[in-house]
Amino acid sequence: MTTRRSFIKQGLLAAGGLMIPSSSFANILISGKKDVIIIGAGFSGLAAANKLDPKKFNVTVLESKNSVGGRVFSHEMKNGLIIELGAEWVGNSHERLLQLCDDFKLKLDDNQMSTHLLYKNVYSPAKTWDFSESWSKKYKSLLENYSHLKEKDKTILDQMDWWRYLVNNGCKDRDLDLHELLDSTDFGESIRQVSANSALGEYAENITPESIKNGTQNQMDQKIIGGNRSLAKKIEEKLKGKVFLNHTVTRIEQGKKVKVFCANGKVFEADKIICTLPTFALKNIDWKPGLPQKKIDAINALQYARINKHAMLFDKRFWKSEDFDMITDQLPHYFYHATQKQGGTAGVLISYSIGDKAAVIANQNNETNFKSVQETLRPIFGDVSSNLLQQENYYWGNDDRSKGAYALYGPGQADLMGILQEPFDNIHFAGEHLSENWQGFMEGAIESGELVAEEIK
Ligand SMILES: Cc1cc2nc3c(=O)[nH]c(=O)nc-3n(C[C@H](O)[C@H](O)[C@H](O)COP(=O)(O)OP(=O)(O)OC[C@H]3O[C@@H](n4cnc5c(N)ncnc54)[C@H](O)[C@@H]3O)c2cc1C
Repeated sequence: MTTRRSFIKQGLLAAGGLMIPSSSFANILISGKKDVIIIGAGFSGLAAANKLDPKKFNVTVLESKNSVGGRVFSHEMKNGLIIELGAEWVGNSHERLLQLCDDFKLKLDDNQMSTHLLYKNVYSPAKTWDFSESWSKKYKSLLENYSHLKEKDKTILDQMDWWRYLVNNGCKDRDLDLHELLDSTDFGESIRQVSANSALGEYAENITPESIKNGTQNQMDQKIIGGNRSLAKKIEEKLKGKVFLNHTVTRIEQGKKVKVFCANGKVFEADKIICTLPTFALKNIDWKPGLPQKKIDAINALQYARINKHAMLFDKRFWKSEDFDMITDQLPHYFYHATQKQGGTAGVLISYSIGDKAAVIANQNNETNFKSVQETLRPIFGDVSSNLLQQENYYWGNDDRSKGAYALYGPGQADLMGILQEPFDNIHFAGEHLSENWQGFMEGAIESGELVAEEIK
């Protein structure tokens, strides 16, 4: 905890241009503790800080924004309803995340959906539509076969995109269109940009016959009551005084120790660094010495998915079922009820679009986007414009720090993760993009942060 005294001391040193926090060299001599600086207070950085044993390490977390949570971005609408502009769903198999919620006494609500379909102007309510029988059978056999694939088969598969793989296996017409609409919602870009190995692996391992039978979708199951960001706030509270907001790291110098410079003029020093930044933010740091060329190449090669969330608060939930969501082949792409289980008559519907569609929507104003939403919904729900109370839009493709929602490993990029994971002297890397089991998820961010914390000796 930062005492008033050390706070003043820090302030004085900062005034001289160099701030060495209380947790520095002198402390190692006295306490034998190592100083660890964690860059980024998203789920990965906070999970790492929470994991490091306070008896062995002095931890400092530096966060560029004025709040914690990163891409977990809960937002309160003007009538008090809480929506997620970033990560939405907690899966029933996201063990680390569920454990942390339990540790911090946070409760979760069911957030499963029943998916309606609007395809070629024909509306099909939930549970009345599916893939063709012949493709369902074939697809099931492909998923079941995944566990028998050898590493070399997976490498070959990784050279191909998911669209090509489906086509090569006989998927066509409506079935192929449905895959494009549904699976691109998961990956955040067209399935022509997704590695066939990533997609097959994800669906084979996460959507098992058991999960379908038990009614759990494994990834889209729950949500933290009060907003997913509550977990970040709880960890921040526990780390009291150790999380420094509005501290954008601009330069990192490695010598005997590592010096971390911030845009606000503060300088910190540590033995080890855990850097949890998405690759776009990593690249903006001035590294001395410079990052190894192969890491730079990997940073340059990795894309992040473009997702736009257009949230609309209505005075009534005209979509009727609480678990309403709907996939469409139109510009607003995917709709879902974002305030399930929150009381009252008003509710928020989010239009969630991906890839090029997201980029088009992001460049229009709310009025234009609402017109397109209204045109899509009119045949099913009639004119709902008089029910609209508020609109909010967030486009992750333009986010200052990540320029995307989550990393998207394209065809032939399976080896990038290992390169990005490699420590660089005293700097260790973590984050959603480096998780082997749950890349693209909050669970992945936590898993990666905790694993790297265990590496620090
Ligand atoms: C639209 C969207 C939908 C999603 N849906 C889901 C979902 O349904 N379920 C799910 O599990 N996951 C979902 N995710 C993914 C999930 O949000 C991420 O995997 C996870 O939050 C990433 O955490 P992180 O700690 O790795 O990175 P971040 O959350 O990005 O944390 C990095 C932190 O570093 C800070 N930072 C950046 N640059 C600097 C700097 N120079 N100095 C200091 N600090 C800096 C950032 O401000 C940020 O707080 C979604 C994400 C988005 C955007």
